[in-house]
Amino acid sequence: MTETVFAKIIRRELPADIVYEDDQVLAFRDINPQAPTHVLVIPKVEIATVNDIQPGQAELVGRMVLAAQRIAAEEGIAEDGYRLVVNCNRHGCQEVYHLHLHLIGGRQLRGISAG
Ligand code: 5GP
Repeated sequence: MTETVFAKIIRRELPADIVYEDDQVLAFRDINPQAPTHVLVIPKVEIATVNDIQPGQAELVGRMVLAAQRIAAEEGIAEDGYRLVVNCNRHGCQEVYHLHLHLIGGRQLRGISAG
């Protein structure tokens, strides 16, 4: 798999504003935030896209969601609400081919559109 910027962030070769870390999951602020809170939650193992998640990685994906839940609470946006987004491949506008959840909130978001 081609090396991604997120692999460099995991290895601390690129700086990032890390907000959460455990042995399997890392979360850091998006470099180009789309809302007051915009955090990327990633697995430490390299998984390119949603299509590449294996059945044995179901717990890992659950951990990513629970990390997002925890970060949302810490950011103070849990009650008002937020959005978790995963883009996949070209039609999904995925830019970085290392699986990530976008945790987006801190303002009223527009309804999700097909475009
Ligand atoms: P995608 O389109 O792949 O779902 O989203 C990739 C996200 O990664 C984008 O929101 C982009 O701003 C963010 N991003 C790309 N490069 C970097 C980086 O070097 N550091 C951080 N913190 N975010 C990045």
